[in-house]
Amino acid sequence: MQELKEPDSKIFQLMVCGRPLDVFLNDIEHFHGFVAPGLVLGGFMVDWARDLVGLNVESDAIVETCHCLPDSIQIFTPCTIGNGWLKVLDWDKFALTLYDKRKLTGYRVWFDLEKAALFPKIQGWYMRSISKKDLPLEVLLEEIIRARRSVLSCRAVRVISHYRKKSKGDIAVCSGCGEAYPASQGNQCSACRGEGYYRF
Ligand SMILES: [Zn+2]
Repeated sequence: MQELKEPDSKIFQLMVCGRPLDVFLNDIEHFHGFVAPGLVLGGFMVDWARDLVGLNVESDAIVETCHCLPDSIQIFTPCTIGNGWLKVLDWDKFALTLYDKRKLTGYRVWFDLEKAALFPKIQGWYMRSISKKDLPLEVLLEEIIRARRSVLSCRAVRVISHYRKKSKGDIAVCSGCGEAYPASQGNQCSACRGEGYYRF
């Protein structure tokens, strides 16, 4: 992130998700391992959704891709996959919804490809029309930070599914491996029924 450490004071006064830009970028690196462009873009999406929903509202989140975006939610909101307040849909759409967990109303924020036409590096990166070697990370990040909400759109929504906590149901002991598993899987656990992902 050397290039971004230049004393461009205007950029560094920028607050994202309640923290200065440099802290925002450090938090991404700490959690994700490196400053991935998708997390930075996702951070600006969370920032906007948080503003719209209101910080004093207890919110749950739904993201529409397994890539990057779940981490932006987990870093910048209290919602995680583990606590069940974040649901991840494997749709590969760069969009998220933050919503009032009681009223089920909130805002969907998405990456708007049409608006991204004004930011060709972001568009090229997202559409994979510019190769990684032709687009250094620092250059891309600079454009994402310059664009911020300019490449995003939002709409008020009411959440109509995927908001319920997944209940665990009955637990059984597997006759194959002796481990506890959800009884709903049948008379043996998924692994013992041949769906396992490992061999001893
Ligand atoms: Zn088993």
